[in-house]
Amino acid sequence: MRTLEKNSALLSLNTATLGHRSPLEKVVDAAARKGFGSIVPWRRDLEGRSVEMLARHIRDAGLNVNALCRSTYFPQPTPELRKEALEDNKRALETAAILGADCYVLVVGSLTGGSKDLAGARQQVKDGVSELLDTAEKLGMPLALEPLHPMTAGDRSCLNTLGQALSWCDELDPNNRGYLGVAVDVYHLWWDEGLEQDIARAGMKNRILGFHVSDWLVPTLDLVTDRGMMGDGVIDLPGIRRWVEKAGYEGPVEVEIFSSENWWQRDEEQVLETCIDRMTRLC
Ligand code: ZN
Repeated sequence: MRTLEKNSALLSLNTATLGHRSPLEKVVDAAARKGFGSIVPWRRDLEGRSVEMLARHIRDAGLNVNALCRSTYFPQPTPELRKEALEDNKRALETAAILGADCYVLVVGSLTGGSKDLAGARQQVKDGVSELLDTAEKLGMPLALEPLHPMTAGDRSCLNTLGQALSWCDELDPNNRGYLGVAVDVYHLWWDEGLEQDIARAGMKNRILGFHVSDWLVPTLDLVTDRGMMGDGVIDLPGIRRWVEKAGYEGPVEVEIFSSENWWQRDEEQVLETCIDRMTRLC
């Protein structure tokens, strides 16, 4: 397995980890100072800002952008809104291209407007991704489907396992044109008995575009914002990283922690130092 210690090329910070409290430039500078080599901004970090200027700031700080987070949900209650969401995602792909991002992360959405038609929601996602894929190819910006934990199936994601994501990749991109893959987030996938096998399957088709780390706390108090710092929960982090690297993944390890009551309350410098320490010792 690759060593993460003092290996900034392999250490990536997803900006959600700091709770979006500071402007992106400040986060970029702090991340570079602490030893991160890559950053993953959210679209909300860019709102009302010049993306070109921010892209230059990130480059000047010596950081890579290994992804842009994240898609507008594909399923919507009306065809007009679905079209709008798709256009919004196309614009985001252009933003990702200006940033020089390695991929655009798709959190796909699920049931809307009181619907109980989960199969219909999944079809809406597949239709949307299929159309977005053409733009992705034109812009040279790969799409990373991120399966989310099944507890999010009611609202945030009807895509819940890596096996399902890979089947969708095969269905939507049978010839593997190189612009559709998956993001492997340990928080969403650690419980899955088929994970090792599915990671190997993803590797065989060169589909792994991201590897996200945090930890699963017992008990977990909130469905979205109670992720743990690596080492504070029950996930076998080095075990999963070993599978991912054995499958041929060569990208960075990205820390992504949503923690409204704990880490988002702490001093940003301290959070970054803790992330680096835990990544190098416990992932
Ligand atoms: Zn993630």
